[in-house]
Amino acid sequence: MDYKRIEQLVAVHGTPALFFSRNRIRDNFRALQSALPGVELFYAVKANCHEGILATLQEEGALFDVCTNGEIDIVKTCRIGPELCLHTHPIKRDSDIRYALDFGIRLFVADNEFELDKFLPYKDKIKLLIRMSIQNPQCLVNLSQKFGAPPADTFALVKKAADAGLRVAGICFHAGSQNENPFKYIEALEYCRDIYKKAALAGIHLEIVDIGGGFPIDYLARVTPIAQFCQPINEYLARYFSNYRIIAEPGRFICGPAMTLAVRVVGKALREGVWWYYLDEGVYGSFSGKMYDHAEYPMQLARGGERRQSICAGPTCDSIDVVYENIALPPLEIGDLLAFNAMGAYTTASASNFNGFPKAKIVTID
Ligand SMILES: *Cc1c(COP(=O)(O)O)cnc(C)c1O
Repeated sequence: MDYKRIEQLVAVHGTPALFFSRNRIRDNFRALQSALPGVELFYAVKANCHEGILATLQEEGALFDVCTNGEIDIVKTCRIGPELCLHTHPIKRDSDIRYALDFGIRLFVADNEFELDKFLPYKDKIKLLIRMSIQNPQCLVNLSQKFGAPPADTFALVKKAADAGLRVAGICFHAGSQNENPFKYIEALEYCRDIYKKAALAGIHLEIVDIGGGFPIDYLARVTPIAQFCQPINEYLARYFSNYRIIAEPGRFICGPAMTLAVRVVGKALREGVWWYYLDEGVYGSFSGKMYDHAEYPMQLARGGERRQSICAGPTCDSIDVVYENIALPPLEIGDLLAFNAMGAYTTASASNFNGFPKAKIVTID
C-alpha cells in the first residue's frame, strides 16, 4: 500500500493498525482460481480468520478449510454452511469429530491408524482424506514434520481404512508453506500416482486429490508469478488426474498481501552505542509472524539519512520482544510512522494481548 495513503489512514485510525483490503482478497482469490482452473479452493482459515476475509471469500464462491471447533464457530458466525467446509486437522478428540459432524462437515483428514479408529463410530457419515507427508526443508515453514504418513506407508493406511469400512476419498498433503518450488507438488503427486494406482487395483475408489496450500507471495523478494508457478502443477494434474476432483487449501496466498501494518516509534534510547527504537507493536502482536512464521516483511518509512545498525523492539516489558536485532535504519524520531506490507497471513492470527497490549486493530479500507 502507498505510504501517503497509510499516513492518511493513520491520521484517522491511529497505530498500531492493520489496514485490510477486501479488494486484495478478491484479486488474490481470482488470481489463484485462474492459475488453477478447475481446482476447488478451500481457504485455510487458520492463516487469518477475520470475518471480512471470510465474507469476501464467500461472495467469491470460495470453500473453507477449518481445523478446530473455534474455527467452526467462526465460519458459523459468518453463516458459511458445512457443505462448504473441509476439516483438515489430522489429530482430533472424539468431541472434536462430533462437533464438526454436528455442524454438518463430512470430509475429514487422518494420518495414522489411531486416528482411523476414532472415525469407526461415524463411518457411515464421513469420508476421509489420508494425509501424506512431503518433506520440504527449504521453505519457510515445513508442515510435514508434525503430520502425515510417510509416502511409502500411505497406501497401507488407505488400505487399512478401507478394510475397516471407512470411505477413503483420496490423499492430501501440504508441500510446505511459502513454498517457492512448484516441483514439490509434482513430487507429492508422483507418490499419489503410485498410491492411486495401487488403490484402484485393490478395488478402492478414490475420487479426490488435495494438493494443500503453500502458494508463495512476495515478501522481501519477488516470487514466481502465480500463473507461471502453477503451470507445471496444472500440466501434471491434467495428464494424470483428469478424472479426479482436485482441491487446494490456500491460506497465505489469499490473505498475506491483503493487510498492511502501521506502527509508530514510541521511544528511543542509545544503549552501548547502538540506537534502540521502541515500536507500539512487537512479537507478541502482529510481529508474532516473525517468530512463528519466520517471515520478513517489507518495510516502508519516510525518513531519509545515513543508515546505521539499529535495533527495533516491541512495546512489552519482555526482552525477547525484539522485532529487528540488527537493521540498518536512518535516525528515527519518536512519533515516526513505519509501515509493513504483506502482513495478512500468520500475523494477527498468532498475536496475543500479553502485558496488557491489545491486538492491533484491523481497519477495513475498501
Ligand atoms: C496451514 C495449512 C494450510 C495453509 O497453508 P498456506 O501455506 O498458508 O497456504 C493448508 N492446509 C493445511 C492442512 C494447513 O495446516
